[in-house]
Amino acid sequence: MNFLSLIEAKREGKALAQEKIQEFVREFTAGKIPDYQMAAMLMAIYFRGLDTAETTALTLAMRDSGDVLKFPKDKRPLVDKHSTGGIGDKVSLPLAPLLACLGFRVPMISGRGLGITGGTLDKLDSIPGFQTLLPTEKIIAQVQKVGCVICGQTDKMVPADKRIYALRDASGTVPSIPLITASILSKKLAESLDALILDVKFGCAAFMQTKADARKLAKAMVALGNDCGTNTRAILTDMNTPLGRAAGNWLEVKESVAALETPHPSSGHPLPARRGEGRGEGRDLRRLVLDCAEHLLVQTRKSKSLAAARKLAEDCLNSGGPRKKWDEMIVSQGADLKAFNRKLSLDSTASVTAELKSGKSGYVSKCDARIIGEVIRDLGGGRLTKESTINYDVGIDQIAKPGERVEKSGVLCRVHAANAAQAGAAVARLKTAFEISPCHPCC
Ligand code: URA
Repeated sequence: MNFLSLIEAKREGKALAQEKIQEFVREFTAGKIPDYQMAAMLMAIYFRGLDTAETTALTLAMRDSGDVLKFPKDKRPLVDKHSTGGIGDKVSLPLAPLLACLGFRVPMISGRGLGITGGTLDKLDSIPGFQTLLPTEKIIAQVQKVGCVICGQTDKMVPADKRIYALRDASGTVPSIPLITASILSKKLAESLDALILDVKFGCAAFMQTKADARKLAKAMVALGNDCGTNTRAILTDMNTPLGRAAGNWLEVKESVAALETPHPSSGHPLPARRGEGRGEGRDLRRLVLDCAEHLLVQTRKSKSLAAARKLAEDCLNSGGPRKKWDEMIVSQGADLKAFNRKLSLDSTASVTAELKSGKSGYVSKCDARIIGEVIRDLGGGRLTKESTINYDVGIDQIAKPGERVEKSGVLCRVHAANAAQAGAAVARLKTAFEISPCHPCC
């Protein structure tokens, strides 16, 4: 193919034909187009954009560059959620077993974190014995039997995205809406979904800092998902403050399990709070898990209204079934349940803990997710480069959230660190993450 003429056409702002896009994705994946030419094409797309038909063609060509999961016919719809990522964003962990208990099949293919944003697979790696890399046949078999799986992409899935993303990373072309949407959706569409819910974050620790930018990205992804034949919806959620009360790989697993156990105040659910849980799981986590489930129930017509869907999801969560499903899922993926339960019973698995205490009484008016994410990364809980190794036990819990009352010397958060020097440095830095006001932020 004459790829140079396509680069020139895009450079001049012309639309590329669907067949040409399919062809160049195929050729690039097969190693027949050099990286320097593909990088030039990506830069042309960065400046000139892609129209709807071009973006759809690129997404489908990327999806079809490798294996697409093929599931047996089954009355349970195939669903998933994608989040643009944030601090303490552990929604996938409780959501997958909840959805399985609601009668869905959930082939949740997830990623690793880079920088301050945590990755679902890194969190799961903190579970003793848990396997995140599964062959295609195992992914399909587990989804059919258990109802849910959370694992990494196989080498054979969406290879075009892997190669294109690496070039975007090295050529300054990551922040392009058509390239982002094609990248995210090609991977989700390779799961053969009936419905997809997108959680698009905005705020200081989000990929999109303003709500307006997040809305733009959400609209583009919803349009593209629906164009590609998957019922897609999006919700916009705040990432100025961490989600829940814990951030850091193991601490987030612990909070996710608590979210599957902690009853809603109105439910009369008998399970006691876990010892050493501090303030317990954040209500915002539970709310967001239910929001995602509610939309998927309506998208797949399992519920007629959002209100009916909410009731169904909430009753299911309070039944304790998703907590049992969680154990079934992790055991199916190799977890050592005894070791996992032993670890869950520990107050901390890090060498040192240290509390940040409030200097005055008042209401929390700010709890900066970006600073909290940076502190966790610097404690060793995140990656500076793709090659970095992670300390799964470090992190921050007992996080006081905006609007909450704290007394002088009350705990604003607790640091889990590898040593006392790192704990001290983290506590000093975290002082800048919190602001305390004399009155409630709503007055
Ligand atoms: N996440 C992805 O998978 N791809 C992008 O391009 C951006 C975020």
